[in-house]
Amino acid sequence: MSQIPESFHSFETDAPFSHCCDCSKELIISAETYIVQKVFSGKECIMEFALCSGCKDNLDQQMSAKSKEALYDFLFDHAELVEPPADYSTDQALEQIDECLTCGKLRSECKEYSYSGLFIGSHLIPGPMPMMICDECQDDMSENLSESTKDVKNKFYEENFPGPPSEVDLPNYKGKPMFL
Ligand SMILES: [Zn+2]
Ligand SMILES: [Zn+2]
Repeated sequence: MSQIPESFHSFETDAPFSHCCDCSKELIISAETYIVQKVFSGKECIMEFALCSGCKDNLDQQMSAKSKEALYDFLFDHAELVEPPADYSTDQALEQIDECLTCGKLRSECKEYSYSGLFIGSHLIPGPMPMMICDECQDDMSENLSESTKDVKNKFYEENFPGPPSEVDLPNYKGKPMFL
């Protein structure tokens, strides 16, 4: 049985995420896929969560069609979303988060970035994810989002992450496109 890579562990608990941040469903024992996303400012993890596929679908449905189109256009214009070969290892898949998906900037050179991965149980599912997006590309992407989509995301963050840790300076993280 493969293990969740440490880069996708919860910073808070130092262990794999166990529950969906939105509906609190248990993730490891569920047969459903889920996404783990972490946002960094420098070396500091400023936000992290796991979201089950049901809750993600819910959010997707609330996003405007125009925003979805803009996001996909952006990704297809800037990134190669390819299916990996069948024997692709977890280690190989993890190398994908060393570089920005869309501009190729190294993670070690990014001030802010976020990365996400797709999991089922304790297995990482290789594919277009895991992916890393640098702050500059995130800004480009959020420019293309409609106001209603920004509202959906802001609401999600407000409900699930009430109040940022006070001593951490959060650089306008709310405007960012988190769900891909
Ligand atoms: Zn959920
Ligand atoms: Zn980039």
